[in-house]
Amino acid sequence: MQLQSDGARYVADVLLTCDGDFSMIERGAVDVGPEGRIAWVGAAADAPATDTPVINLGGLLMPGLVNTHAHTPMTLVRGAGDGLPLMAWLTEVMWPREGQLRPDDVWWGMALGSVEMLRSGVTTTCEMYAYEEAVTDAARGAGIRLVMCPGLLSVFHADTDGSVARRVDDIARFHAAEHDSDGLVTIGFAPHSAYDLGVQACAEVAAAARERDTLLHLHLAETRTEGDELSAAHGGASVPQLLSEAGVLEGRVLAAHSVWLDDADLDIYESTGVAVAHCPVSNMKLGSGVARVPEMLERGITVALATDGPASNDDLDLWEEIKIASLLARVTALDPTVMSAQQVITMATRSGAEALGLHTGVLEPGRWADMIRLDIDDVAFVPVTSPQELIAHVAWSGGSRHVTDVWVSGERVVAGRVCLTVDEARARFEVQHRAQRLARESGT
Ligand SMILES: [Zn+2]
Repeated sequence: MQLQSDGARYVADVLLTCDGDFSMIERGAVDVGPEGRIAWVGAAADAPATDTPVINLGGLLMPGLVNTHAHTPMTLVRGAGDGLPLMAWLTEVMWPREGQLRPDDVWWGMALGSVEMLRSGVTTTCEMYAYEEAVTDAARGAGIRLVMCPGLLSVFHADTDGSVARRVDDIARFHAAEHDSDGLVTIGFAPHSAYDLGVQACAEVAAAARERDTLLHLHLAETRTEGDELSAAHGGASVPQLLSEAGVLEGRVLAAHSVWLDDADLDIYESTGVAVAHCPVSNMKLGSGVARVPEMLERGITVALATDGPASNDDLDLWEEIKIASLLARVTALDPTVMSAQQVITMATRSGAEALGLHTGVLEPGRWADMIRLDIDDVAFVPVTSPQELIAHVAWSGGSRHVTDVWVSGERVVAGRVCLTVDEARARFEVQHRAQRLARESGT
């Protein structure tokens, strides 16, 4: 689809801009230019004269949510092997089914997941997966902003000597063809993890990402013991330390999970500017642990939110992360002052954009007009006796059920809770039938 509109002024009862001051503007207006960027934001009464259409939305308008780590085509294996221990779940169910995947399966898995994200107000997703052509094509069709990070796994992409050069070349070609820093799709590189690929292969990939000034996205410190072998082989150094010494963390790096970090590791994140994709629901569901997010925030580390794949969450609704990230941090710290409503909303919007290097996540001039409208004429938003209470409602009692309309680059992709860009019924049908085939062919 062509993401072009003629520009318009949108007027809402409340604007939640998610800017540095966390400004809230009553009866606010957002002017969107024809190229899909925000041209002006402020009180409607102060807005400059315009000859573009003025659209009265009512409700609350805020930036779209940014999902910084997902494997969305895994909608095709959602729920499979539920309740099994991690290794049995992977080896007996997930990998056998994924081994049967074809590009057109991945396309439909991504299309279905894109509907789920857009309808819940997620306007950007950072994907780590193979079949990057299918994922990118489906995301473009759905009109969701995509950071595609083609994955590298040792079992598929490493030569006998451990080199990943051939896969890196393929991704470099894909980057040259598809990366558009001024468009809907940008391309990064995603070595799965140091424990899977080894430090040297991660360094090869990191060099290729740095050369192109693009994102390096990897899993890091997700579970307690995953790095033990690597550490033991290198004199007990932690995995972040090994990666840092190998230069892997020098470019633009986004580390998913980052649960098991000691103080020295946090020092490394702080000094190298590594951003974190925090996945609290996945970490809780898989029993991985609790990331030290309040300390990260205190150190000024960029922490964004993410769902992880729909096989370990099991949905793509980032509102759950908004609420649960904060609840988890508070119950762990035994302190209700930890991680405020404002902080978690910022993590889901502005910090997500920062972690991905995108001009979105804030309602301010120059950024992409990626916006969502919440219906606040709702039981969950009553009462409001101060602006602070409205912010609390957005974080704690609000959710995806309040998202009515969604724009990406100024183009409306959800209207009245209906996704306009993907045939949802067809996507559900396709994924259902393809998932049955995967189960049958893999004998799981
Ligand atoms: Zn993941």
